[in-house]
Amino acid sequence: MRYKVVKCPNCGKLQITTANKAYRCFRCGSTTSLEEARILLVTEDGEKAREFLKSLLPKEEPWFRQASRR
Ligand SMILES: [Zn+2]
Repeated sequence: MRYKVVKCPNCGKLQITTANKAYRCFRCGSTTSLEEARILLVTEDGEKAREFLKSLLPKEEPWFRQASRR
């Protein structure tokens, strides 16, 4: 399985998707084709994708930090 770290062109939300053609943004709900999306990383390693995403996330997303602290 391929993990892609993508950036929503609509709202700028960063997230991981395994979709091949299009994915739905968690934040704004818009569906973005992977051709349009900004793909920052493609990897087979889900852990690596999460680490990469975490390193990029802005500090104003405390929900993520809380969730990842466990
Ligand atoms: Zn979005």
